[in-house]
Amino acid sequence: MNLCLGITAATIFRIPNYLESADNPGILTVVISIFLGFIIGILINYLADVLPATRRFSQPVCPECKQPYSIKEYLFSLRCPHCHQRRTIRHFVVLISSMILSVLLRFFPFHGLNFWATLPLLIYLGMIVVIDLEHRLVLIETSLFGFILMLIYGISFHGFLGALSGALGGMVIMLWFYILGVVFGKVVGKLRHKTINEVPFGFGDVVFGIILGLLAGWSAIAAAILVGILIFGAYSLVWLIGLIITKRYQSFSNAQALTPFLILGTIILFYL
Ligand SMILES: [Zn+2]
Repeated sequence: MNLCLGITAATIFRIPNYLESADNPGILTVVISIFLGFIIGILINYLADVLPATRRFSQPVCPECKQPYSIKEYLFSLRCPHCHQRRTIRHFVVLISSMILSVLLRFFPFHGLNFWATLPLLIYLGMIVVIDLEHRLVLIETSLFGFILMLIYGISFHGFLGALSGALGGMVIMLWFYILGVVFGKVVGKLRHKTINEVPFGFGDVVFGIILGLLAGWSAIAAAILVGILIFGAYSLVWLIGLIITKRYQSFSNAQALTPFLILGTIILFYL
């Protein structure tokens, strides 16, 4: 009993000490982080709203009536002023997630980076995850930007050769999965006597293997992809069972976006 109480007390006292030593964030720092997270969330929402449609930093429009939003309407209105369509649930999920992640980054810095140096990474990867989940799409423009951004992070983490070998490793592994997916699709198509155009792994995932390889370096990228694909597999299985139970299963058209899981795998590797 005493031993048990002793452990509990020690744990309670140790946690605040540990957190204080991470970056010594006071209550004001937490409030500022929440505020910054909110701004980051707006930015991610904006990029995910305009980039898939126009591929540039354009004026956001209502997805329902296509009327443009003014800056004031876009920032403060919960409904479209023209057709009164409500904002999608994604806008709120992104805002809340960004605020939580922003606070977490204060306590658990990413690979020894300070908070500000992590922000471009958070905004970029957040945008990629949202666009891929919503549109099953990795844009060429965001991929090119990601390549440059991750090259900078990669060189500072692992040196030029380290980053490059990570990129090459990420590309080769994802290319294997891509080819495997195409062959698998062809075999299933033959068995069902119809052509299947959708593949479980898209070419965007190969491009992201390169981008994440730059960030993680070799051999971490191999482990990151493995972790990402394992989580993806587990998630897809649960999701498929759900679809079969609710009788909404429609073969490959129900395939999930892989890139968010590759990103998750890479982030997990950085914290292990
Ligand atoms: Zn509208």
